[in-house]
Amino acid sequence: MLVAVWIVVALVLVCPVDASPSSTGDLSGRDFASVLLFDGFMKSSDRPSAPSLTRFASASFAALLGIVALILAEAGLPVLADRAVAAAKSVATWVSPVPAMEIIEAFDPPREAWLQGHRGIDVLAVSGEPLRAPTAGVIRFRGSVAGTATVSIETASGFVVSFQPATSDLEKGEGFASGAEIGTVGAGTHCDRPCLHVGVWPVASDRRYVDPAQFYGQDRSLLLPLSRTPAEEPAGDDTSSGAGAWGGHRNGRIPASAMCALESAPGHMLRCDAQKAFDRLSHAYRARFGSPISVTDSYRDYDTQVILKRRKGRMAATPGRSNHGWALAVDLGGGINAFGTAQHQWMRANAPTFGWIHPGWARQSGSLPEAWHWEFRK
Ligand SMILES: [Zn+2]
Repeated sequence: MLVAVWIVVALVLVCPVDASPSSTGDLSGRDFASVLLFDGFMKSSDRPSAPSLTRFASASFAALLGIVALILAEAGLPVLADRAVAAAKSVATWVSPVPAMEIIEAFDPPREAWLQGHRGIDVLAVSGEPLRAPTAGVIRFRGSVAGTATVSIETASGFVVSFQPATSDLEKGEGFASGAEIGTVGAGTHCDRPCLHVGVWPVASDRRYVDPAQFYGQDRSLLLPLSRTPAEEPAGDDTSSGAGAWGGHRNGRIPASAMCALESAPGHMLRCDAQKAFDRLSHAYRARFGSPISVTDSYRDYDTQVILKRRKGRMAATPGRSNHGWALAVDLGGGINAFGTAQHQWMRANAPTFGWIHPGWARQSGSLPEAWHWEFRK
């Protein structure tokens, strides 16, 4: 039987049915099986000139193919889904749904579909916050699901992402770019604090939920502490901190024309020299770790600083005083956000060559240890 499964796997790989997750659309497991079945029968019985013995063998084989295809529909699709997840994991560059994303409840899937569990992550967010697209895609659904305002999208990379509570003015099927504003965070959640629930599953998987955190470069074991931002972030001394006023701009009021978009991390803006240096650094990082540096936060405009204040009260910096308001600071994920990891060590050794430093106050021995916070100093 195992041999038969491998034969069919080989056939699936060469047969004209495109089984890649990005193109199967909404095929459920059973639909997928019937496509395979139909294809199998057509290929083997469509040869009238074949000798009867061969025809019998073909028919038997087709039947076997059908049975195995049904088994595959149950077992094979998750394998394809795993492949899609693995591919996405290697490039954790999704733009967070809200700026300065903070996960307050991790992914905790149930062992069986009917059991209780947490099929996504919850991020701190207050109602009225703009909702950003993780990556390019189209609107799949907007409306109410069991009484909760829901927006779900289908990404070009083959995933469904659902946001709750959230609303959108975009129409079903309408497309958008990575980082585009696609809606608004709604009111009323299942968290103790105001939050946005994010769920992700591969389009081809029939709602087999996966951990959204991985696409944002934030491993569940590396959740940011709730106390990440004190009432005022330390300014740091002149020799170690890089963020500060420039060009006559005010904190959080820098015009977009005075900044440049990061090529290695869509949706993030920095001062142009900082951006160029960061992209070069990210390129070097990719050569070492196989994926670009995961950026969770960069320039924070004044409005965003106001939102953070609303989210976190006295735990957030006073609007207009954030280190991120100068477009010279980033928060990083993908392992850099924890002291002692290979990624963090690599950054400590190599980032300064590109003009990026880990300020003294943010180091493990500093006054406010923040492994994820890096600044540009030229
Ligand atoms: Zn949740």
